[in-house]
Amino acid sequence: MVPEAVTAIPGAVAAPSDPVESCLVCGGVRTERRFVQRGYPVDRCIDCGLQFVTPTPSAAELAAYYDRGYAVPLERYAAAGHRNAARIAELERWRPERGRLLEVGASYGHSLAAARERGWDVVGVELSPTASEHARSQLGLTVHTCALADAPLAQGRFDAVIMWHVLEHVRDPRDELLRLAGLLKPGGILGLRVPNIDSFGARIAGQWWPWMCPPAHLWFFSRTTLPRLVDACGFDVKQVATLRGDGNNLYQYALMAAGNGLNDLRVRLLGREPARAEPVQRAEAKTTIPSAAARSADPGAEVSPQEASGLLQKWLEILTRAQPVTNAMARGTRWVVEPLERRGWGDELLLYARRRG
Ligand SMILES: [Zn+2]
Repeated sequence: MVPEAVTAIPGAVAAPSDPVESCLVCGGVRTERRFVQRGYPVDRCIDCGLQFVTPTPSAAELAAYYDRGYAVPLERYAAAGHRNAARIAELERWRPERGRLLEVGASYGHSLAAARERGWDVVGVELSPTASEHARSQLGLTVHTCALADAPLAQGRFDAVIMWHVLEHVRDPRDELLRLAGLLKPGGILGLRVPNIDSFGARIAGQWWPWMCPPAHLWFFSRTTLPRLVDACGFDVKQVATLRGDGNNLYQYALMAAGNGLNDLRVRLLGREPARAEPVQRAEAKTTIPSAAARSADPGAEVSPQEASGLLQKWLEILTRAQPVTNAMARGTRWVVEPLERRGWGDELLLYARRRG
C-alpha cells in the first residue's frame, strides 16, 4: 500500500494495479522476450523500450538471494573515496544552499561522509548490517539498517535525496520513487544513478553485459524510460546524462560475449540446450556482485559444472590473461570512447530531478 502522504504529490500517477501484467513505465502490455539470463526471462516493452525481469521475483526469493552472499567488499568503496566528493559537488549545482540530505543505499557511508564534510546534514538507509554498522561506528553517521519503506523518516523534510545503483534492484521502482518524493520538500532535488541499457557495452555484450545480472538487477532503464518514470512519480527532470561506469572495459565485454557465444554454439552442436536455460540453473544461480570487475573475473558463471569443459576452462584462462591487454586498450582509446560515453553510450545513467509542488 502507498501511504496517504505519498499519493498527495502533484502530478504523480497511480501505480498500475498489477505490475507483472503491465509495463512499469508506460502501462503497455505488449512485450518481447530478449533472452533468459541465469534462468530469469528478460523482456522488453514494445511500447516504451523498458527492459525487465519477468515475472518480478518474490520478496522471499530476493531475500534468500541477498542472504546467500550479496556483499560488496569495503575496499571497493574506500578506493572510490575521491569520487564521492565530486559527485556531491555535482548535486550542489542543483542545491547550492545545502540542507538535509538522505542517501538510500548508503553502503559503508563514504558518500554521506563526503556530503557531511561539504556542509550537508546527512542521514542514510542501508539494508546491509555490516555496511551500515561500519557507517555508524567508523564514520559516526546516522544510518538506518532497513528498507526505505521501514525507515523512521519524517515526510517532506529533505532538501536532497541520492540513490545510486539501487533502483534497478528493488521490486517496485515506482513505489520507491513515490516514497522519495514524499520524503523530499517541494522543490527538493533527487539524484539517481542506474545502469544504462542503451549503452555501447550493453549493445555489444547483450545478455553477457556484466550489469545484466538477475536477480540482483530487475529493471534495465534507458535515457528515455528512466525520465518518464521519474516524471510520473511527481518530479520535474532537470538533467539526464550517461557516463562511464565503474570498471567499464568494452574490449573485455566483447571477449566475454564472444566466448559465451562460442560456448552456446558448441552446446548447440552437441545437441543440447544451453545450460542457462535449464530451470535447475535458477536455483544454482551464482551470487556475484553487479560489478564489471567481479564478473569479468568470473565469466563462466552461467555454465553448470558439467558444461565447464576443457574448452571453456581454456577460454576462462584466455580472458584472465587478456585483462591487462584489454585494460591497456581501454586506457589507450579512452580519448575516443569517453566523448561517446557522454553522448549516450556510457554504461551508467545519471539523472537529476526536482520534486514538483
Ligand atoms: Zn512500456
